[in-house]
Amino acid sequence: MQGDIYMSYLETLFGLKGKTALVTGGGRGIGQVVAIGLAKAGAEVAIISRTGADETVKLIEQAGGRAYSLLADVTDEKAVDAALASVIARSDSLDIVFNNAGICIHEDTLKATIADWRSVLDINLTGEYIMARAAGRIMIEKGIRGSIINMASMSGSIVNIPQWQASYNASKAGVIHMTRSLAVEWAQYGIRVNSLSPGYIATPMSVDTPQELKDAWMPLMPFHRMGKPEELVGAVIYLAADSSGYTSGSDLIVDGAYVCQ
Ligand code: NDP
Repeated sequence: MQGDIYMSYLETLFGLKGKTALVTGGGRGIGQVVAIGLAKAGAEVAIISRTGADETVKLIEQAGGRAYSLLADVTDEKAVDAALASVIARSDSLDIVFNNAGICIHEDTLKATIADWRSVLDINLTGEYIMARAAGRIMIEKGIRGSIINMASMSGSIVNIPQWQASYNASKAGVIHMTRSLAVEWAQYGIRVNSLSPGYIATPMSVDTPQELKDAWMPLMPFHRMGKPEELVGAVIYLAADSSGYTSGSDLIVDGAYVCQ
């Protein structure tokens, strides 16, 4: 009986039953694990990526959840609008956006091409802006007091070493301040906008990193290990759910204390 009271209390704080969540880049890595977590918390999850997320949808359905995959490049405004129109047609709501799709290029600034700089800024910053704006329009039109969670990184606050990644660092710093800007601008509509800043997390993006680079990172990490995508799920659920009703414009750092040094 007491267990039931605790469960319903936790459900009030962190449950997402009846909500529609959108996850970009949910076909693998952090997006995949978070999409599964949002579904387990009760949300129906729409997943957007360029190459599809059938495996994530299958994993969610196997766990008894509801999800579907849509194709869109987040840098393409028209494709994003079309994908969001499909979400509204299927789910008739859009309560949570986990704006997660992103890329990273490691390169020496003196050798980097402007095309590389543009592609990182285009996906990581402009892509999140395009998605947040399109989702914000829908939320405002429908009177939804939604939650937008933008994927930033500890690289938005510190400069990683020994690899050089000025474009990535700049894009994530941009995400953090764009988040604060939208949080203030859309508070009048009851829409909350926060960012999440992980440290090094073991995913396809970082697992393919050369071993010598990972060996160089290890002594710099206070926990002497990379984070797991699962260790971000609770943070996203907190930012998505009613538990964070007065949290907006925050950057939630989940980095094993890396930026404290
Ligand atoms: P992955 O490379 O494992 O996954 C990236 C996802 O983004 C893929 O599903 C990819 O799908 C999608 N994606 C990339 N570009 C686009 C695009 N233009 N339009 C739509 N979808 C796109 O990366 P991670 O899971 O490691 O990273 C996810 C996010 O977390 C990124 O924003 C990253 O910067 C951030 N992050 C990662 C950290 C880490 O250590 N891994 C640390 C801090 C932040 P597809 O190719 O099918 O489009």
